[in-house]
Amino acid sequence: MAVDRNQWLSPARIEESQFLKFKKIINYAYNNTIFYRKKFDSLGLKPQEIKSREDILKIPLTTKKEVLANFPANLLAQGYSLSDCHTENTSGSSGLKLTVALDYKAKDFCDCVYARALFAVGYKPWQSMAYFWPSVNHRKEFHEYLGLMPKDWISSHIRPEAQLDILLKLKPRIIYGFPTILVVLAKIIENERVKYSAIRPEFIISHAELLTEEARKYLERVFGCPVYNEYGATEFGFRMAWECRKREGLHIDADSVLIEFIKDGLPVKSGEAGEMIITGLVNRAMPLIRYQIGDVGVASDRKCSCGRGLPLMEVIEGRRDDFIILPSGKLVSPRGVVPIVEKVKEILEFRIIQKDKVKLLIHIVFSGGSRLEVLPILKKDLLDFFNECVDIEFEIRQDIARSERGKLKAVISEL
Ligand SMILES: [Zn+2]
Repeated sequence: MAVDRNQWLSPARIEESQFLKFKKIINYAYNNTIFYRKKFDSLGLKPQEIKSREDILKIPLTTKKEVLANFPANLLAQGYSLSDCHTENTSGSSGLKLTVALDYKAKDFCDCVYARALFAVGYKPWQSMAYFWPSVNHRKEFHEYLGLMPKDWISSHIRPEAQLDILLKLKPRIIYGFPTILVVLAKIIENERVKYSAIRPEFIISHAELLTEEARKYLERVFGCPVYNEYGATEFGFRMAWECRKREGLHIDADSVLIEFIKDGLPVKSGEAGEMIITGLVNRAMPLIRYQIGDVGVASDRKCSCGRGLPLMEVIEGRRDDFIILPSGKLVSPRGVVPIVEKVKEILEFRIIQKDKVKLLIHIVFSGGSRLEVLPILKKDLLDFFNECVDIEFEIRQDIARSERGKLKAVISEL
């Protein structure tokens, strides 16, 4: 399998072939889509002028709004129609819901890239996998009929007790889910160890939401297995970066995407946080070049001790729109603030909402009865962390609505 070999090539080889693919896709997009033809022409830029990595910065960014306004007429490449593409809708967590078209060759490639990360952490293709997702009626993939990579879907919208009952029945070797769902399940399991003792996965994959180190440690303690983090987006065939067993960062799927980390228009240094700008390298039906995904991540030039040549990135800090802005103007990433609330074991679910420059409203769902006594301590911990005058209010709720995709955004800014 080519994608399996790709990961072990030298970093220099991978970088070289990634840039070659990048040049090919911009040239292709320019010649085959109205959108990119106009975008390049408006600047008098020709794809052939992109000769080095530094030149990439000359190419303008593509925003979600532009994709929404130009799909499908101007973005679908010449020769493709929606009926001969695989289509997906994005989760709309940024408020904009997009439809994305993937040609079937790209879809197959992305599926192989997806499987590569699973095999890297010890998955065997006959092992059962419990997969949390909003919808559970999925057509079986061809390989599943052969007994390979079988998935059992569990709805992310049903009550946690019902999810646990299904897990008890399935006894899956692998659990694939959103961390906010898994943490809720872990809190229930922790209180009823004996009842749920048969849920013993070999490993857990956390994806689609922010996984804090604190949540990871907690899940590992309760489930008694490693938790690996993945990062992806529907726009690029789902998965783009993942952890191997060494967990020294997330390996970027450099054969399917090129990820830049940018601050003030320039690449950040290794170890610094930057806005993630992504170019898809394989989808010819709907090329996306220098796309503003809306996430902030930390760049890395370190090499992983596993020996894979695929480049690393460090953590995902969260969505750019969900950073809290303190009265002084200082930005606080969800990764900074979420663990402070997450560690309170009496709290099952929560959401932090920035209402205005000085006010934070925190929705709280308690795990048992009302445990109001934990709130003054939590408030003090948060104020110590912010070290600024912030007005914090709590609102006790029965539940917190998840998005259609089953995600629970832990931080929302209404600024
Ligand atoms: Zn590695």
